[in-house]
Amino acid sequence: MKVITCCHKCTISPGAAVMMSGDLDNDLLAICTCPNGHRFMVHQAHSAPEVIYSAGVRAFAAGFYSESVVTLSAALERAYELFTKVFLLASGKAIADIATYWKDLESSSERQLGAFCSAYFCATGMPWKTAPDRASFRNKVAHKGYIATSEKAHDYGEYVTGSINAIIGYLKTHYNDALLLYLDSCRVVVYRRLEEVARRDPSIELCFAGTTAIEWNGTGYEKPTFDSRLAANSAMINQLNC
Ligand SMILES: [Zn+2]
Repeated sequence: MKVITCCHKCTISPGAAVMMSGDLDNDLLAICTCPNGHRFMVHQAHSAPEVIYSAGVRAFAAGFYSESVVTLSAALERAYELFTKVFLLASGKAIADIATYWKDLESSSERQLGAFCSAYFCATGMPWKTAPDRASFRNKVAHKGYIATSEKAHDYGEYVTGSINAIIGYLKTHYNDALLLYLDSCRVVVYRRLEEVARRDPSIELCFAGTTAIEWNGTGYEKPTFDSRLAANSAMINQLNC
């Protein structure tokens, strides 16, 4: 996934933004160099489900409907992971122990879903409503080359958006301290990576870039629809002039 953002040194309001881009890695970091040679380690300062969700929105907006379905599905799975880990943290488990526990589940999305469903039931007292028809559609697209139309991909996008709203909304309302603690723990790696990179290139600086993701860890929580995120994506693309 490509991160596109403006150079913080060259972009001076009201002048035009000077853009730069780089490949995002699994630590949510991208090394970007602007046309004038300024180098930044850009951190996409959101959780993994948000960033992947944002990529699914961008894929849909660009007309890659099947790709959007697969990416949005991955975002939902990462939301399952986030909920389970935050619930375990709030229940007194150590972050290192939670990481070890989850590592064993990483190779099986079914096991991850099982862990999430148990955590959700323990947390809320209500069973999570799985959606076998949605899973079947996603599997057809991902494994059988089924070509998703815009209508079906949009429908799937609304389903994923609603599901992530429910998951994140519960965390924000009932486990916000644990959620913030968990997100802070994820950012430790950002500063470690910055130290490593800066040893080789002292001129590099850390900066942050937003996404068109579901905005739930900033100020004010909203419950977006897939359409509202598509509109936000369009506005961001226009703003960045790319
Ligand atoms: Zn620059």
